[in-house]
Amino acid sequence: MRMSNLFVQTLREFPSDAEVASHKLLVRAGYIRKLANGIYNYLPLMWRVLKKIENIVREEMDNAGAQELLMPFVQPAELWQESGRWDVYGKELMRLRDRHDREMCLGPTHEEVITSIGREGIRSYKQLPVNLYQIQSKFRDEIRPRFGLLRGREFIMKDAYSFDANEEGLDKSYKIMAEAYKRIFERCGLETKMVQSDSGAIGGSVSHEFMVLVNDKSENNAGENDVFYCTKCSYSANSNHAVSVLNEAVTTGKYEKAEIIDTPSTHSIEELSEFLNVSSTIICKSLIYVIDGKYVLALIRGDRTVEETKLMNAFCGNEIRIASAGEIEEIMKESGFNAVAGFIGPKGLKNIEIIADETVKDLKNFIIGCNQNDKHMVGANWGVDVELPDRICDIRLVEENDKCPECGSSLKVTRGIEVGNIFKLGTKYSKAMNATFTDKDGKEKPFIMGCYGIGISRTAAAAVERHHDEHGIIWPLTIAPYTVIVVPVSDQDVQQMEVAQEIYKKLQNKKVEVILDDRAERAGVKLKDADLIGIPYRITVGKTIKDNLIEFKTRATGEIELITPEAAIEKLTENIS
Ligand code: ATP
Ligand code: MG
Repeated sequence: MRMSNLFVQTLREFPSDAEVASHKLLVRAGYIRKLANGIYNYLPLMWRVLKKIENIVREEMDNAGAQELLMPFVQPAELWQESGRWDVYGKELMRLRDRHDREMCLGPTHEEVITSIGREGIRSYKQLPVNLYQIQSKFRDEIRPRFGLLRGREFIMKDAYSFDANEEGLDKSYKIMAEAYKRIFERCGLETKMVQSDSGAIGGSVSHEFMVLVNDKSENNAGENDVFYCTKCSYSANSNHAVSVLNEAVTTGKYEKAEIIDTPSTHSIEELSEFLNVSSTIICKSLIYVIDGKYVLALIRGDRTVEETKLMNAFCGNEIRIASAGEIEEIMKESGFNAVAGFIGPKGLKNIEIIADETVKDLKNFIIGCNQNDKHMVGANWGVDVELPDRICDIRLVEENDKCPECGSSLKVTRGIEVGNIFKLGTKYSKAMNATFTDKDGKEKPFIMGCYGIGISRTAAAAVERHHDEHGIIWPLTIAPYTVIVVPVSDQDVQQMEVAQEIYKKLQNKKVEVILDDRAERAGVKLKDADLIGIPYRITVGKTIKDNLIEFKTRATGEIELITPEAAIEKLTENIS
């Protein structure tokens, strides 16, 4: 490709709406262009990268025995009504009507469609196992599209779905996918960590996420997930799923008699513990949430934080948020109180589910809100002064230096970008949609299913997050749009131009993906663009060509070698074979 023909416009400045490196660089280097919020054009360079990732994914999926198909982007509402998700999927599901007023949606994922395919196409256990996958655009009307390709509304995903006759079969399919995923990301030049993750409220199901760890502590960290991992053993989990063993803490308070005392203006745990001069570990915190429209009071030890996904799962919910001041007022009124947040407690509350985190059950002589403003009960004990709720679960967020649930060592936290996940669905969709096969024993049974996603466009962006410097992108060789760029320093110098052309032709003949920067631009501009675009190797043809030497630069290391054009060509042909 000649640079003069390549459809690419690099920008001098970073786009003003971009916060993270991959978004900034992909726009500035001319890979993507925004069409609407969370919707991007993939320009020619980007499309080459995406196709490379897709091909790696294809090869590994095919090698793992999966078969590619392509399902429609637009889906009928009926299927979603059958699975029960039409009503619970929420606003991420983009709904529309056709000219006959039939309800449809833009596919955010394809469990329903694949289940209908399995239902119609698989009759007998003899046809199992089957794993079908596609590489397709998805649409999710994300509440906060951001970070460019990392969280778009339209994005490209590889999604695979396995059908098995029994749990052992699913275990096997799941393992095969986990192995394939490791190879895929490795081949994309991305180190990933496979971490345990939340799999919703379906009891007993298992899922893992593949995280690209982005450790930098900068504010513009693109990692949207916190990953807890053990410093000694292999335990690692998304914060929405992580569990821990607590370190020792004071859990018996100094107040031996239960009484209600004045605690003016102590709206937060910090203010309260400071005012009373006690450890926050002997305060029972009360928080009101709204889960699928219902009020829930969560109790947790004062020094800990509620993990909302865990809390939501305890109620098999789909949506959770903290209650507003207005909602709290309403709840208080219903129970005959008028306390505001900070002074709430479980005693006497009506029409509200109460749940306690495990951290509160051992508290003694503790401090708790009593639904009166500027007052708290001190010296409280469960069963005497306040009832301990029946529902006690682990709903707390793990914190760094908690102990590993598997080996007791310290847990650490890091940020991660989820590039893929694997999920044991079991019979969730096959049962709901009546998708069955005839088993060995002649009985009709629902398929045991799994689903496996990889964000193709997100993976490309994650690669940029991991591989860039102040000059631009540094593509891993396997997913780079081109392998090498040949830059003649001066387009006025006949010999430089000729040699550059020659190298370009030779590389093309050897099937090396090469760009020739034949533009009438200053050397500085050309070299800057080469770095910005992130081509792994650069051959600069300058004055030294008089001695038959060119500059061979490796973008990742910055290393520059003065070698002959022949040697450069040989290096590159070795590198890609
Ligand atoms: P997230 O928690 O990041 O929203 P998810 O759990 O919704 O992801 P899945 O529905 O399992 O993700 O989708 C499979 C993969 O698709 C994810 O692992 C991710 O790589 C990618 N993906 C999901 N949502 C987006 C998005 N809005 N933009 C780009 N890629 C996405
Ligand atoms: Mg999502």
